Amino acid sequence: MTNPYRQLPSISELLERPDLAEIRASHSHDGVTAALRIELDELRKRIAAGQSIDDDLNSIGCRVRLLLERESLPSLRPVINATGIVLHTNLGRSPMHESAARAAYDAARGYLNLELDLDTGKRSSRQDPIRDGICRLTGAEAATAVNNCAAATVIALRTLAAGKDVIVSRGQLIEIGGSFRIPDILQVSGATLREVGTTNITRAADYEKAIGPNTGAILRVHASNYRIQGFTKAATIEELVAIGRRHGVPVIDDVGSGAAVDLDALGFPGEPNIGDGIRAGADLVLFSGDKLLGGPQAGLIAGKKTWIEKIEKDPLMRAFRLDKMTLAALEATLKLYHDPMRALSELPTLKMLSMPLDALMGRSASFAKRLCAIEELESVTVIEDEAFVGGGSLPEQAMPTAIVAVVAKDVSDAEFAKRLRTGRPAVMGRIQSGQIWLDLRTVFERDEDNLFNAVRSAVRGSP
Ligand SMILES: *Cc1c(COP(=O)(O)O)cnc(C)c1O
Repeated sequence: MTNPYRQLPSISELLERPDLAEIRASHSHDGVTAALRIELDELRKRIAAGQSIDDDLNSIGCRVRLLLERESLPSLRPVINATGIVLHTNLGRSPMHESAARAAYDAARGYLNLELDLDTGKRSSRQDPIRDGICRLTGAEAATAVNNCAAATVIALRTLAAGKDVIVSRGQLIEIGGSFRIPDILQVSGATLREVGTTNITRAADYEKAIGPNTGAILRVHASNYRIQGFTKAATIEELVAIGRRHGVPVIDDVGSGAAVDLDALGFPGEPNIGDGIRAGADLVLFSGDKLLGGPQAGLIAGKKTWIEKIEKDPLMRAFRLDKMTLAALEATLKLYHDPMRALSELPTLKMLSMPLDALMGRSASFAKRLCAIEELESVTVIEDEAFVGGGSLPEQAMPTAIVAVVAKDVSDAEFAKRLRTGRPAVMGRIQSGQIWLDLRTVFERDEDNLFNAVRSAVRGSP
């Protein structure tokens, strides 16, 4: 009996095959060789399992091409977000306005006056272009920005209170997710946590009683992703500022998701406005760039000039500084707020959050009608549901939304979801009661055709 492994061609024989000529022309020699080795290993396994490899040998060119194509695909790629969660941290949080995205793109592919004053020819600060925008937005006298709000909290606490006590309410010792825990952040910044009050009740007097000679700051943290309900009380920022003034202690307001427009009107009551803290007299207000502001990932710091100057002299500023693409995108985003109505109607994040239910219902109904043409779908329905459109960044407050629910004839819900996820473009929906739920609130109109095609490919067999 002949050795079955003899049927296996060598790498050099395979490289000579005419059906590999095109692949060899468009990929590196090493890449093609590596892919062939992987394929040969597969064939060896099949022989070991006693299987025939004739068919596999014939189609080896096709498989090598698929392998090389998959390898050259970036692992970060666009996703159609059909979850309805507008600020989805796993999907990159806030999509940016076209002008911000373009500013980042231009900054990325060329040179720019990042630290250069073009009028004088002298060196300037990379923070200059964004200071004005943050000050206008918050009413603060000075501002700066770092990589994210976590970094903003660390550097603010370090500057104002390293080696000292920071007073925080027990109801605000929160975890935001992604390992952002207030007690840990305090520790990293070199300050000591001084907890006051209880989980549900912390009065202004609790803060005042805790003030001593070693108090460095009072920190208020907005409980972005949860709510304490019922018998509750928290000191207002005005009360904290009054106490701080009486004792000469600075007050830091970490508002996190901080909205720059009135969110009450959009159905999110209780969401603090980033200007509130400054108006009340807080020393520093901290918030994220990629939550309700609708810009790039950044940590914005607004407040008293003396503190901002001190923060910028901290060596950590160098470690936390923003890159040119983010700065360009942030400046463009802030400029949109010069006209708040324009920000509301044009910033994708705010547009999605404020999308009226009847408009969303109408869009969902037309999309559902289109989907009905796909024979492989068992059912297509539009339903009204309560959803947490803010993810972890807004109060856990359900608001009504429209859902296109689909069921495939021959594909299970889990398999359907997986095919959508791994398709091109990738689609993220939700599995609910055996159905795939698509919420168009977070789907750009420019993506609707792609979503339609993705659903069709997913139910028609392997993508
Ligand atoms: C989200 C959040 C943070 C962390 O912000 P990042 O920009 O994600 O670092 C900090 N504080 C509060 C109150 C937040 O909501």
